[in-house]
Amino acid sequence: MIERLAVIGVGLIGGSLARALRAVDAVGEVIGCGRSIKNLELARELGVIDDYCADPGDAVADADMVFIAVPLGAIAGVFAGIQGRLPARAVVTDGGSVKGSVIADAQRVFGAAPSWLVPGHPIAGTEHSGVGASFPELYQNRRVILTPVAETDPNAVARVRAMWEQAGSEVTEMSVAHHDEVLAATSHLPHMLAFGLVDALARMQSNDEIFRYAAGGFRDFTRIASSSPEMWRDICIANADALSGMLARFGDEMNDLSKTIRSADADALLAIFERARAARERYVDGLESSAVGPGP
Ligand code: NAD
Repeated sequence: MIERLAVIGVGLIGGSLARALRAVDAVGEVIGCGRSIKNLELARELGVIDDYCADPGDAVADADMVFIAVPLGAIAGVFAGIQGRLPARAVVTDGGSVKGSVIADAQRVFGAAPSWLVPGHPIAGTEHSGVGASFPELYQNRRVILTPVAETDPNAVARVRAMWEQAGSEVTEMSVAHHDEVLAATSHLPHMLAFGLVDALARMQSNDEIFRYAAGGFRDFTRIASSSPEMWRDICIANADALSGMLARFGDEMNDLSKTIRSADADALLAIFERARAARERYVDGLESSAVGPGP
């Protein structure tokens, strides 16, 4: 049982964890912290948090568990704000979508990765932001990846694992570099394709007409382009190496596809589409039916 949980950044990810833990009585008190008083007031009205503070140091002062769920560009500032303010028993974890940048921020602020910091990433989410979009079932049957480093205390990892399991998740561990490579391919690249496609079409001269005739496939494919621009700016910068490598590889694939189309190579086109359909049926549909699927 967590006695006092501090949630720094009470949006979709932070708010949903607080709601999930409350739903199973796994937490006593929840203290929120953020940059928008309006959002924190709403979080209190909705019963997601009991109280809030504007200062991260005050928010963590009596906490035994701290969850940082702010955009990646704000994490170093939160680390600086909690430095020297954590009780000895406290464990800190985060929900940031890139893990290398979180470790680098921790090393910069604290001098080394602290033993009480357990970097994490729930593979769950929606394209909506803010505490109003949070809901207790977000993490049910979803994966959470923890990326402990050599300095991380195994007891801290066990406490964070137990928390996510109480929220309904399946917890796995990975190295930081492997996490950032895998997520560049499965989450960050598809978001770039959706943002890039909608932006490119919106800048075309006949854009009104293009969007008027956009049907189901376009809506499905581009839903994730409604995600928070601020969050995605930070993810791109934080995972620039892995993501730009993936984009370059994908660009080559698209050029090859374009050549195949131009040369009207029917057999090659059929082979690509059959391979892709079989892979999707094997991997993605299988994940959907077992409900342990990737989120944004
Ligand atoms: P969100 O916009 O819903 O919530 C972020 C909250 O952080 C907001 O309440 C905002 O006011 C607050 N905030 C911003 N800057 C702050 C600062 N400097 N100090 C304190 N609070 C600050 O975003 P979210 O979707 O909940 O994402 C939060 C984190 O979770 C991000 O790091 C993101 O990479 C990660 N994540 C998001 C998803 C997703 O699908 N949305 C999935 C997995 C992980």
